[in-house]
Amino acid sequence: MTRLPDIAAFPPPAHNHDGCVADALATAEELCRTRGLRFTAIRRRVLELVWESHKPIGAYDILDALNRAGKKAAPPTVYRALEFLIEADLVHRLDSLNAFVGCPDPSSSHTGQFLICRGCHSVAELDDADIDSLVRTKAGALGFSAVHQMLEIQGLCIACSETASESP
Ligand SMILES: [Zn+2]
Ligand SMILES: [Zn+2]
Ligand SMILES: [Zn+2]
Repeated sequence: MTRLPDIAAFPPPAHNHDGCVADALATAEELCRTRGLRFTAIRRRVLELVWESHKPIGAYDILDALNRAGKKAAPPTVYRALEFLIEADLVHRLDSLNAFVGCPDPSSSHTGQFLICRGCHSVAELDDADIDSLVRTKAGALGFSAVHQMLEIQGLCIACSETASESP
């Protein structure tokens, strides 16, 4: 059984995003506590910036935001914080966009399928175990053992496809 996609699905354009940010930070705190990881101020701030929206953000945009806030962070500081957050599954790196997006459900198992909207640039996670095992099986048939899967699927989210069909 695949878990219901409600947590990781595309949020409607007008939703209480402060709630998303608060949930993400609370989840991160809890996860770090249970795994004995240090959720330092910079890691927290970087996670907060990644969660500014459901759109992926680049490392240099994070750096700019920190510097605008007078933090004067150096690129390695940001990269180290991102590495930590990725390692903890709190943030995912999307290779095709060279950008980072917050994980809505870091406690669940990750199979790494991402739906990327070309309209609003929001990202949702599919994390479908069936797709994961199908890829493993097909790769295995070729004698290839899949270790890490990262599927990035581009298209239009429901809100953007509605807008597209409304326009003349
Ligand atoms: Zn949100
Ligand atoms: Zn995730
Ligand atoms: Zn969209």
